[in-house]
Amino acid sequence: MKDTFLLTDFVTEQIFSIVRWIFLVVSCIVFYYPPIASIVNFELHTFNYLLIFGFAYMSITQVALWLAPGKQTLFNLLMKTGILFDYIALMWLLCLTGGVVSPLFPIAYLLIMHSTIYWKILGATVSCTVMVISYTILFWISLPLSNLSIVMFLLNVTFLIVIGFLGALIVNRERHHQKLQYIYKDLVVRDYLTGLYNHRHFQESLKNSLSDINKKEMSVVLADIDNFKMINDQHGHVVGDKVLMKIGEILQNTIPPSLGRSFRYGGEEFAILFQTTDKEKIIPCLEQVYKELREVQFSSDNGVFSITMSFGLYTNQQGISNQVELVSRADKLLYKAKHNGKNQAIFDCGTVIRG
Ligand code: GH3
Ligand code: MG
Ligand code: MG
Repeated sequence: MKDTFLLTDFVTEQIFSIVRWIFLVVSCIVFYYPPIASIVNFELHTFNYLLIFGFAYMSITQVALWLAPGKQTLFNLLMKTGILFDYIALMWLLCLTGGVVSPLFPIAYLLIMHSTIYWKILGATVSCTVMVISYTILFWISLPLSNLSIVMFLLNVTFLIVIGFLGALIVNRERHHQKLQYIYKDLVVRDYLTGLYNHRHFQESLKNSLSDINKKEMSVVLADIDNFKMINDQHGHVVGDKVLMKIGEILQNTIPPSLGRSFRYGGEEFAILFQTTDKEKIIPCLEQVYKELREVQFSSDNGVFSITMSFGLYTNQQGISNQVELVSRADKLLYKAKHNGKNQAIFDCGTVIRG
């Protein structure tokens, strides 16, 4: 499946941060570089303070953005204060650059879109209202000095509402579509019962790994629950389903994403794709899976029981690039594990881990 570019909230904030830095540099040139400053003739006196305020805020933001991945609370705080900072900075700059006739006025549209990203229609309505009120106050204060007619003022306010609000609606609509796309994409690759990736995604991931020159190092693992038919017969399919769900949970929690990914291959069979051929890295994962399997107990009206599993592990040290061949080698090792008494994992090199 072809990956579509997804502009996450984190990437959006990174882009906004970069735009703020660019804006800061451009502002410095416009305010301080004499050939330009003398033409635009903006008020310089409080710009120094704004610059210090902006520089301090943006530096903190930059550090917070580096720390943010994985820290949702910090990130949420960051984006909320970001919008507030943008508002203060914009109003300040408008005052310094001509008030109601400032060329920076269109930045207000960007601010409305930004708040729509996080607070949807409420964000659009509140930010649009705040901008209209602020712009009206600015017009009122600078009334004796500015030569902006009431008609032009009303036109600007109308544009602010129409363009700002319509733009915000479009942003909101696109966000909604993007979210749906994300949900559908996940539905396509996930198995409903176990929450693991499904068979389709297993085949696609394997194909991608084999065609990607950087991902050639890999191992294929096939796993099967021992005597599962008997469990279904004795305890019922509903309990059987619970077993499958628990195994999904164990695999998801024990295989680190940096090392590999787990799949439901089909029925009561599972697969793992490790991004390594180093069995010293794989063995601790399997030992952990076996430890968790030993500890977990299931119950039904017919009693308490635990389960065991068998694994076949093919570390692709030979660099086999045929998908079917790789799966079939892992399958043969799984068959061997079953044949040798079940509840064990057999590697291609002959290493055996017992459950
Ligand atoms: P072995 O140790 O040799 O693997 O024996 P086994 O009994 O596990 O044999 P087999 O692998 O052939 O058993 C497959 C069973 O898995 C039969 C089928 O009823 C059950 N099964 C497959 N998918 C599901 C499912 O989604 N839910 C439940 N409850 N059972 C399933
Ligand atoms: Mg089976
Ligand atoms: Mg089985």
